[in-house]
Amino acid sequence: MTPRGRHFFANPGPTNIPDSVMHAVAHGTVDFNGPDFMQVFEACHAGLKRVLGTTQHLFMYTGSGHAAWEATLTNLLSPGDRILVIETGNFSEGWAQMATDLGIEVQTLPADWRRGADYGELATALEADREHRIKALCVVHNETSTGMTLDLPRIRGVLDTTRHPALYLVDTISSLASIPFRMDEWGIDAAVGGSQKGLMLPVGFSFTGVSEKAMAAHAAARLPKHYFSWTAMLRRKHRSFIGTVPIALFYGLQESLRLIEEEGLENLFARHHRLAEAVRVCVRHWAGNNGPELFCLAPERFSDSVTTILMPEGYNAEALRARVATMNVALGAGLARLAGKAFRIGHLGDLNEAMVLGTLGATEVGLKLEGVPHAPGGVSAAIAYLAESAG
Ligand code: PLP
Repeated sequence: MTPRGRHFFANPGPTNIPDSVMHAVAHGTVDFNGPDFMQVFEACHAGLKRVLGTTQHLFMYTGSGHAAWEATLTNLLSPGDRILVIETGNFSEGWAQMATDLGIEVQTLPADWRRGADYGELATALEADREHRIKALCVVHNETSTGMTLDLPRIRGVLDTTRHPALYLVDTISSLASIPFRMDEWGIDAAVGGSQKGLMLPVGFSFTGVSEKAMAAHAAARLPKHYFSWTAMLRRKHRSFIGTVPIALFYGLQESLRLIEEEGLENLFARHHRLAEAVRVCVRHWAGNNGPELFCLAPERFSDSVTTILMPEGYNAEALRARVATMNVALGAGLARLAGKAFRIGHLGDLNEAMVLGTLGATEVGLKLEGVPHAPGGVSAAIAYLAESAG
């Protein structure tokens, strides 16, 4: 039977799409080289640069975040170049694997997934690279599998104090337009993003913000590319997209940028923080009585876009997710080594208090029905927090 009532989608991406964005995406086809569309495109290009916090370059591709990962690596590196990847979780591993497959030598800074990387160890690794063989440092700003963020200005500081010239490449896929990110101010050379998370759009395009320093490296980069070539893109009217432009998504982007700028980025970050904190208050409460607990053990690194919740030993997260799905609520699965052991609640994008409470409520019902130990009343704790923190 078709489930009744609204579907509560609490996966950390793709995210909920506002109705007005959905209507905008339903635009009829137009000439993507024509003046009317070019006006929409140019406004979106400029708006996306404002969200990234850059006045430098921006290249876009039809494809999900993986496309932007690949574009970024192939446009900046040559076969045999070395990169340093800070281990954060499933997505840092994925980006590293892609680099290896592309013929790049990957060095990893290992880290405990529950606590994150040690900045002192990063400095040591960079200092040890006296010949500057490391051409790029790759960082996932917000690790969507573990619910942990890294301090990007601090990492910039480590590159500066060790006087290491590596390019600074950042995956902002689950941080952009959700938690603070400022490409130029933070000295980032390439910022990788996608349409389907903080930008509240369907999956379909991804992009890289690129610094002048990175453009100079691009001129010397020899990894093969065609669809992703920034040089080829610069010869085109849109300075992006080799081939057909995903027209409908730009009508959607125009509307999502309007919503983002109407709310204001600082207010949007504050909303994400408050909703995230409500989820954390609830989970901390459940954790009493040996219940599910916050996976991230470093409070200063808590992610405001996704919370990963570790099940008590011997209880299966997939059984809980399946139970909660019967109430038409979609929780995120545990990824990679957390499969079956953890579940995730996304709190980014088009979201409000009622939606978060609905998700937490259904999850608490699921915990009861599945016989998972927990301290009941997590949702009441979240309600109390939301009442106290209301502006
Ligand atoms: N990086 C991060 C941090 C992600 O969360 C994701 C997807 O969730 C990706 C990369 C991969 O992006 P995509 O699934 O859009 O290819």
